[in-house]
Amino acid sequence: MREKEAKTVLSPQNGMNIYRGCTFGCLHCDPRAKCYRNTGEFEDIEVKVNAVELLEKSLRSKRRHCMIGVGSMSDPYQPIEEDLKLMRKSLELINYYGYGVCIETRSDLVCRDIDYLSNINEKAKCVIVMAICAADDELSARLEPNAPVTSKRVAALKMLSKAGIQTVVEISPLLPFINDNEDNLRGILEIAAETNAYGVLCEKIGIIVKNGSREWFYENLEKTFPELLEEYRRVYGEDQDLISQGNEWLMRILRDFCKEHKIICDAERLNTYLRGFEDKLAGEQISLMLA
Ligand code: SF4
Repeated sequence: MREKEAKTVLSPQNGMNIYRGCTFGCLHCDPRAKCYRNTGEFEDIEVKVNAVELLEKSLRSKRRHCMIGVGSMSDPYQPIEEDLKLMRKSLELINYYGYGVCIETRSDLVCRDIDYLSNINEKAKCVIVMAICAADDELSARLEPNAPVTSKRVAALKMLSKAGIQTVVEISPLLPFINDNEDNLRGILEIAAETNAYGVLCEKIGIIVKNGSREWFYENLEKTFPELLEEYRRVYGEDQDLISQGNEWLMRILRDFCKEHKIICDAERLNTYLRGFEDKLAGEQISLMLA
């Protein structure tokens, strides 16, 4: 762990990342890409030790309430959070100052903070975006070796739903020749339906491997699925966008399923929803931030 005294904790779009780096070890990890300018080993987590103080200063000085987005660059509920509780302290502030929150995670640890999440949800809006790439635990453990397996995330989704907190299942990612098949996709869609998810987020079936995440992806593909390396080279060569050959029909299955189960899957509509602040006490939506 590397401690850092940060200058800011909120981006201009009100995104917050307390940790840089992540220990979940996902094969498909995009935040490793060089364009995000991580310094040091990705598993050696950089912690913004003054994040809570900085957050309080920002929340106190904002002129309008908005949604605070968490988790775009690393998982906010990775193991280090169990001890440091910086997310928990941040949620306490978000609740106290009346802001909304949207959290992206692959971890059931999010439910530890269900008390604050529920309180935020009573006054403003709280949405949890749970990323899932495999319907069964065995495959999720192979693809995301240190992250909680899918069944734990499903249990978390159920608990959140029971508490009245909206959830979105992010199907991310479906990798060519590995989990881009109808059974796996339908399995994840069933999870979304059975846990009463508000939405399903998935824009394409495939993965983008940028400079930095690409090397990690292929190194780990060779270790975990050595039999597929040649197939990837043959089909994708040096491509950055590894789009599944089943993209169109799988997306059609996804759209049909969501329509039938009244789950929103239009990415633009969902993103607008995730960014829209609601003042439930005033009973009206007052602003859209994170444009
Ligand atoms: S949870 Fe996200 S940041 Fe962490 S290893 Fe997986 S993809 Fe990377």
